[in-house]
Amino acid sequence: MAGIYIHIPFCFSRCGYCDFYKTTKLDKLEPFLVALKSEIKHYSSLFQEKITTLYFGGGTPSLLKSSHFNEIFSLLRDSYIFSERIEITIECNPDDLTKDYIDKLLESGFNRISIGIQSFHEKDLQEMGRRHSSAQALQAIKDAYSGGFRNIGMDLIYGLPWSNTAAFSENLKIVKTLPINHLSAYHLTFEEGTPFDRLLKRGVYREITDSESLNQYELLREFAAKEGFEHYEVSNFCKPGFRSRHNSSYWDGSPYIGFGPGSHSYFGGYRQWNKADLNLYLKSDREKIVEKEVLDISDRLNELIMLGLRTAEGVNLEAIEALDRQMYNKVVSASKKWLQAGNLHNESKFLKCNAKSWFVVDGIIKDLFV
Ligand code: SF4
Repeated sequence: MAGIYIHIPFCFSRCGYCDFYKTTKLDKLEPFLVALKSEIKHYSSLFQEKITTLYFGGGTPSLLKSSHFNEIFSLLRDSYIFSERIEITIECNPDDLTKDYIDKLLESGFNRISIGIQSFHEKDLQEMGRRHSSAQALQAIKDAYSGGFRNIGMDLIYGLPWSNTAAFSENLKIVKTLPINHLSAYHLTFEEGTPFDRLLKRGVYREITDSESLNQYELLREFAAKEGFEHYEVSNFCKPGFRSRHNSSYWDGSPYIGFGPGSHSYFGGYRQWNKADLNLYLKSDREKIVEKEVLDISDRLNELIMLGLRTAEGVNLEAIEALDRQMYNKVVSASKKWLQAGNLHNESKFLKCNAKSWFVVDGIIKDLFV
């Protein structure tokens, strides 16, 4: 398993909660594509894994034309070895998904689509700064399905300060009627430097209470279980056989390479990332763009804990023991109180977080870090 991630750092406008790296300076799109192609070629001799997943994220990948994708695909196929069963995903905004565009995405080779819906309430969409309406969101999913996509995912956001559990429940009732196989549902977080964070600090917004958060999370879990969605990661749910193979490869430690400003890579025992700076990226000077970190044993161990506890698979205790016996003992000892409290359980040498406790998993992870 190995993946390629391509970050398209452009958006038509900015959503108030978003801290992904992006710009609205669309005049830089063509120079960006030149730099992207240069980067793809540069790494072709350094990353020689068979590619099983390819993922276009952003920003807004769906603002690219199909001709752009065809050029990128042609270069990728010339430069890397693609598995026959490759999963190729594009993140799309609903307002970009015309029937013609959907046809072209399928013709280009995409076989998975992830649509950024966030909510079906007009007030939510307006407040979040989304460009689409609820009707467009519904139409986009229907058109993606009737156009031929059979692996469709969507995103929802809950925990909105102006909303409530009943409104979130209405969103889930709509999800039930849609031909999707994957649902990512994220609790709103006020990320430093975003417009929402400023509104929080000025007292315009409030963070919802822990009990409201928990109610919405429980509602989500109950909905997913009832509708046949597997809860396979803290924020991710899928119908059987429809896990995101790309995201799963991040969580199970498979190698991947990221292209584009702000993208991350993991291969050869180190992490590297491109600085989140489009102007620098356009110069294609890799000495200045790339930062690297060699992972020592405690970094690797903490990663196994962090990624493992967020997934249904859990943490492979044998892998931790194989890395360092002393640190393994520390993890086992720190996990005892969580096991006794029923937040964790041990299943065939895998330490797992009970899905109910995923709500507080960040605290457990911190406690287990070595
Ligand atoms: S949420 Fe998506 S569309 Fe909105 S600003 Fe962020 S990357 Fe762009």
